[in-house]
Amino acid sequence: MFSYRHGFHAGNHADVLKHMVLIAVLRHLTAKPTAISVVDTHAGAGLYRLDSDFAGTSGEAQDGVLKLLASPLAAEPPPLVADYLQLLASFNPSGKTRIYPGSPFVTETLLRQEARDRLWLFELHPTDSKALVGHVDQLEHKRHIVIKREDGFEGLRALLPPPSRRGLVLIDPSYEIKTDYQRVAACLQESLKKFATGSYMVWYPVIPRPEAHELPRRLKTLANQAGKPWLHAVLNIGQSPERANTHTPGEDAPRPGLTASGVFLVNPPHTLKAALQQALPPLLEVLGRGRGQSQLVEGS
Ligand code: SAM
Repeated sequence: MFSYRHGFHAGNHADVLKHMVLIAVLRHLTAKPTAISVVDTHAGAGLYRLDSDFAGTSGEAQDGVLKLLASPLAAEPPPLVADYLQLLASFNPSGKTRIYPGSPFVTETLLRQEARDRLWLFELHPTDSKALVGHVDQLEHKRHIVIKREDGFEGLRALLPPPSRRGLVLIDPSYEIKTDYQRVAACLQESLKKFATGSYMVWYPVIPRPEAHELPRRLKTLANQAGKPWLHAVLNIGQSPERANTHTPGEDAPRPGLTASGVFLVNPPHTLKAALQQALPPLLEVLGRGRGQSQLVEGS
């Protein structure tokens, strides 16, 4: 526990998928004038420096958002990608992409003072929760944000249904512990009973582990049982041929890092499926590394 630090992964291909979809969901929810509540059960540090030791060591943003920015797609992006790049640019007014906003700041950017939107952020890691508090403190308007150094699954319980009766729950654990998969499913099941009209977004890694493989299937079953529409998208950037070629028979297989991830939504915006079908193929063309690359968009 607590060996995961999102700073190593900020701006990687998984963040590109997750934050692009998060923006689309929030745009949809804020299109109506009534207030929304957003609960981010696993918030991370909130803001990351792409030129920090963390990001520099892992180089994951180089294979993610920075690769996208350097590609021809950045000049003519489909709407979902355009919206994501525009939000990212607002954090980097100099034109050089040094700051990467995590989910708390992606969300905060899109919330409306005048509508009295609210944001709850849960983060357990002592260092990251302190960093999150520090970053939020820098905001001019912050009274609509509540930060808790508590277990996000537990904390969510007390917040549903939100008084606004409209909102989003983002569930984005690090899956450091196997039980996270089980807790995500249980959390969605319980939350749907309390707040059936809420929007839900779960991120998960696509890795060769039975629990990870099983999770989207369980979530589909839960949504179907609750009679709620769902949307599932996967971006798999595959492995680069160089990596594959460096593997000598008899040695342990090389560890390529995370190559694929998925987002699962309940009560998604009705336009999102088509928008993702338009955005993911060109995005994969840019971020894909060759062997095994694929994308998927499916929904009920
Ligand atoms: N949502 C963030 C974003 O998109 O920028 C990234 C979050 S990261 C994948 C997961 C975070 O959850 C880590 O910072 C980790 O410390 C934290 N965490 C792990 N278990 C937790 C729990 N039970 N409750 C709250 N936070 C937890």
